[in-house]
Amino acid sequence: MNVEAITQTACYNAPNENGKLSLRGKLSLRIVIVGCGIGGLSAAYCLGRAGHKVTVLERASEITDVGAGIQVGPNLSRLLIRWGLGDQLEKLATKPEALNFLRYADGERVGWTKWGKTMEDDHGAPYYHIHRADLLSMLHELAAPYMTLRLASKVVAVDPGSQGCDASVRLASGDIFCADLIIGADGLKSTVRVAVVGCAPPPLNTGYAAYRALVPTAAMLADPDLRGLVESGEMMSWMGPEKHIIGYCIRGKTAYNLVLVHPDHRATDEPCMAANESYMAEGSVTQMRADFAGWEPRIEKLLPLVDKAYVLPLMYREPLDGWVHPGGRIVLLGDAAHPTLPSRAQGSAMAVEDAAVLGVLLAAPRPLPLHAALRGYEALRHARTTETQRAARANFAVFHLPDGPAQQARDDSMRRAMDASGRGDGSANMWADRAKNAAQFGYDAEREAEAWCAENA
Ligand SMILES: Cc1cc2nc3c(=O)[nH]c(=O)nc-3n(C[C@H](O)[C@H](O)[C@H](O)COP(=O)(O)OP(=O)(O)OC[C@H]3O[C@@H](n4cnc5c(N)ncnc54)[C@H](O)[C@@H]3O)c2cc1C
Repeated sequence: MNVEAITQTACYNAPNENGKLSLRGKLSLRIVIVGCGIGGLSAAYCLGRAGHKVTVLERASEITDVGAGIQVGPNLSRLLIRWGLGDQLEKLATKPEALNFLRYADGERVGWTKWGKTMEDDHGAPYYHIHRADLLSMLHELAAPYMTLRLASKVVAVDPGSQGCDASVRLASGDIFCADLIIGADGLKSTVRVAVVGCAPPPLNTGYAAYRALVPTAAMLADPDLRGLVESGEMMSWMGPEKHIIGYCIRGKTAYNLVLVHPDHRATDEPCMAANESYMAEGSVTQMRADFAGWEPRIEKLLPLVDKAYVLPLMYREPLDGWVHPGGRIVLLGDAAHPTLPSRAQGSAMAVEDAAVLGVLLAAPRPLPLHAALRGYEALRHARTTETQRAARANFAVFHLPDGPAQQARDDSMRRAMDASGRGDGSANMWADRAKNAAQFGYDAEREAEAWCAENA
């Protein structure tokens, strides 16, 4: 067994008179981040940049992501741009011009909200659509100088340590990594979370799954019925009973990203620690077409252009009471802390915001016990991520209404919001609501954390 003793570079490890670790003096924590996804990489950058010694442990043998798109709202793009990724975003991502809500059977547009420049004017940063692999690779490049990355390193056990003693993680290989702080950025089926809160509450299988697929836009541009989906540069959201489809362009409009949410008849509840963590699998394209048979003519034409689709069950957890182990050396971040359904397109943004807040709190210039910094992290982040989880669940239900009075009321509410500016407070189209937009997209995670430090440090 190899015990990895990461060299401590400064004066951190001595507990203070209260038995708490403190940020007194020149600080360099030994931080182990479990998981090299969007959240883990962002945390590695933010904490490495703050002067900590960061090791990232990733179970996969390479850093990659499925062929799929991801939405980057202004609350996320503002951080990425501040971190120097603005040029790459401009190069690799596309800016959607608007959001449409459509009826599944005939494609009637019932909702529309202008995005494009309006997003920047209203919230100070653009809304982007990007390939997940491009975002991951940008974050990897950003974090690389600040971290030691160990691939093929699956964490199987976490020891919270005891007062004055290191916390540690054990890999499947038997290797042990000691740390002042362990960050669980290991996603929905987090192993670290079990060390923090145990198995409860269990994961909730929503009973739905999402196909994800990319269609080459060259084929769409050749079809007069599909060309507009590409040329308009607008995002589409088709709503039907128990199902919805999201469509938008990525990679310079060379690919059309599809997310198709549908009832997952194979769904079963999973135990707390699922033995098989590969929850993203290649799906049946034939089944996908059958699941959406009878949808409007453009969908009927689009789906035959899909030659490969991934499918994943959509899992959810009720918000946890807290994300910090009582010992004060383990904390959760991103989906490990607050998995969010895709119907608000904010899960990654929440993970990156978490990382940004931790980065600021753990770079505080004034003395602050680590325990207090982590409590500050929870205090700053919990209400926001809980509200985002709630909003995503609300949208999920709104998108899936069966045909009938509730669906008609939803559509009428969305229609009313389709004024010239595309704004409508209280609309079933959440993106037309100015207060909700301001709260979701106007948020600046780093500024919030700085303000908290000014008051509490
Ligand atoms: C269909 C769909 C569409 C979505 N669309 C959007 C969107 O448009 N915008 C948005 O902001 N969000 C979106 N999300 C949500 C977003 O994908 C997640 O919230 C985000 O990826 C979470 O990042 P994370 O780093 O916390 O976790 P993950 O991305 O899950 O990363 C966890 C990492 O930890 C590793 N790991 C796990 N266990 C271990 C272990 N034991 N040891 C070592 N490593 C381990 C994993 O291999 C992985 O690399 C979507 C989600 C879905 C399902």
